[in-house]
Amino acid sequence: MGRGAQRLAQQKRSAAPHTILEVNRMNKQTVRDVDWKGRRALVRVDFNVPMQDRRITDDTRMRAALPTLRYLLERGAAVILMSHLGRPKGQRVEKYSLEPVAEHLRALLPGVEVRFATDCVGDEAEQAARGLAPGQVLVLENLRFHPEEEKNDPAFAQALARLGDVYVNDAFGAAHRAHASTEGVARYLPAVAGLLMEREIDVMGRALEQPERPFAAIIGGAKVSDKIGVIENLLPKVDHLLIGGGMANTFLAVQGHDMGKSLVETEALDTARRLLQAAADSGAQLWLPVDLVVADRFAADAERRVCAAGEVPPDGMALDIGPETAAKYQAVIRQARTVIWNGPMGVFEMPAFAGGTLAIAEAMAQAQGVTIVGGGDSVAAVEQAGLADRMTHVSTGGGASLEFLEGKTLPGVAALRDKGES
Ligand code: ADP
Ligand code: MG
Repeated sequence: MGRGAQRLAQQKRSAAPHTILEVNRMNKQTVRDVDWKGRRALVRVDFNVPMQDRRITDDTRMRAALPTLRYLLERGAAVILMSHLGRPKGQRVEKYSLEPVAEHLRALLPGVEVRFATDCVGDEAEQAARGLAPGQVLVLENLRFHPEEEKNDPAFAQALARLGDVYVNDAFGAAHRAHASTEGVARYLPAVAGLLMEREIDVMGRALEQPERPFAAIIGGAKVSDKIGVIENLLPKVDHLLIGGGMANTFLAVQGHDMGKSLVETEALDTARRLLQAAADSGAQLWLPVDLVVADRFAADAERRVCAAGEVPPDGMALDIGPETAAKYQAVIRQARTVIWNGPMGVFEMPAFAGGTLAIAEAMAQAQGVTIVGGGDSVAAVEQAGLADRMTHVSTGGGASLEFLEGKTLPGVAALRDKGES
């Protein structure tokens, strides 16, 4: 990172805690509201990490939970960790065992004793949890080895609750699901947010409710139908709504443009028309691509050219926003004080069609205001570009951040204690 970039990243980081003190958007109790000495913290984390042959290929999610774990350990808690991994569908499936994750956690927490229990409920787990000393960690086996987890079974939630004195939810990425470990267990123990959960809700919540203006949202991805809720929720709040990705094609088709072989959702044309009307009524400025990168087929080595949004040839396929659009969007982003981005501008998985997505990531990295990226593929694009640490916030939850941006209540958050509640 260059010196200017470093300074920028530093400014952003130092700005964040300051504003969190100014406005406390989080009306939920957190680990800061509990006296941890001698208590057992039952912590739901999102350790659903990608693995190959029992080797973790990306430990970002584990590292994101470390501040909470250190916080608890330093204050004399014994820490019991529960997570899901993959989709074992309610059965014990060896390749989805969390044992390699426990092993990796030992490397991430040097000097801390990290134990492993081969089941997340039952005698072995209970004994291991009881035998844990302050400052020690117990990792429980995959919650989803039991079908009761996803069914939010009350007896299973109670069995989990027996392992701790206080429940901590730090798994923002799973907070949109009402499962036993994210929602049910909170009925049987005092329930508070972890530091990661707190930061996710705080940063995104403040951006949605009290944004510094101008406030710009960039929405992309393949389909309009995936993003209707987000667009509807953001329109009344934002000053600018920038549309890109495959979904832009559907909006352009509504405006009467022939989109050739591009992905157009014919069944979403009415919705797109309604959203254009809602944008006109809201006073937000809606931006659609003025030019596109068009390919002759859906392939990394396709013949490509740039054309105006209204001039897609009959055999052409729009796979990215064009350079003129990217420049316009960049100018809006640079002037904004709050920017939220969900959904790539093109088929960024192919380098030939990643230009628009990269342009957005770069403009956000240079922006002076609060910059937030949410959504699995958008986050992957920002990480791929090496710009993740230059954003104010990169959400760890794909589906959860989407639901948050839709304005929905996340069951895993709703279940936590409100401030002042006892
Ligand atoms: P996120 O995970 O950030 O919410 P989405 O899942 O909604 O994003 O969309 C990402 C997908 O959209 C990517 O796989 C990308 O290839 C695809 N996509 C983007 N633009 C186009 C396009 N013009 N045509 C087809 N697919 C596209
Ligand atoms: Mg996605």
